[in-house]
Amino acid sequence: MIRGWLSRLRAQREQRIVQRRAISNELWIETMASLPFLARWSVADLEALRRLTSLFLDEKEFSGAGGLEVTDAMAVRIAVQACLPVLHLGLQPYRGFVGIVVHPDEVVARRVVTDDVGVVHHYDETLAGEAMEGGPVMLSWRDVENAGESAEWAYNVVIHEFAHVLDMADGAADGVPLLAHRAARDAWCRVIDAEYAAFCDVVDAGEDTLLDPYGAESVDEFFAVASEAFFVAPHEMRGEHPGLYALLAQYYRQDPA
Ligand SMILES: [Zn+2]
Repeated sequence: MIRGWLSRLRAQREQRIVQRRAISNELWIETMASLPFLARWSVADLEALRRLTSLFLDEKEFSGAGGLEVTDAMAVRIAVQACLPVLHLGLQPYRGFVGIVVHPDEVVARRVVTDDVGVVHHYDETLAGEAMEGGPVMLSWRDVENAGESAEWAYNVVIHEFAHVLDMADGAADGVPLLAHRAARDAWCRVIDAEYAAFCDVVDAGEDTLLDPYGAESVDEFFAVASEAFFVAPHEMRGEHPGLYALLAQYYRQDPA
């Protein structure tokens, strides 16, 4: 009885937010046109995506860096891609952070590492995006803007960074998202560890890969690049990595191919 009452109350609250944060038809059509890979989803899924995008916009705070002003159109284009992976999972896994910082272009980050013998190394790393536990998520607008075309080579910076957020939802960036129980976690690790090892061999051999070779860096990067391909190049992804595709389809509760 109370449960029914609570869920009705929540539905009403969500409905008010969706109305307050409604995305105009014009902006929605413009956003869909800029992301042609979304044409694979059904009308019902896209309606649900539009609704979830409004809820996401209500919870998150966008800010521009380097003089960039984040317009409504930019925020919607980022939000819709961030919501795609959680279309059937809901926004709960994203609740650990609020801020999304958008830079005009890639960012050069200064890194410092100390090696095994205690020598400190300084180096620069060029980033199109970054996700840290507790946030914020950082994105390069130039990379977001090219998401329509870059889908062809299975590249999508927003999905990549939000896959990291999902990965970290259980407290560790280890290529394993929050799963219902221990057995699911074990099953996940069996598949992804084997796929990752095979992928590293192919990258080491210098062969061309559908997935970004950057995925060979670590298993958490492998999960992120596999998620990109799963959503923006699903047919190719299913053809080359059927086991990994099935694992992601089960986790995301979607089958884009
Ligand atoms: Zn990454």
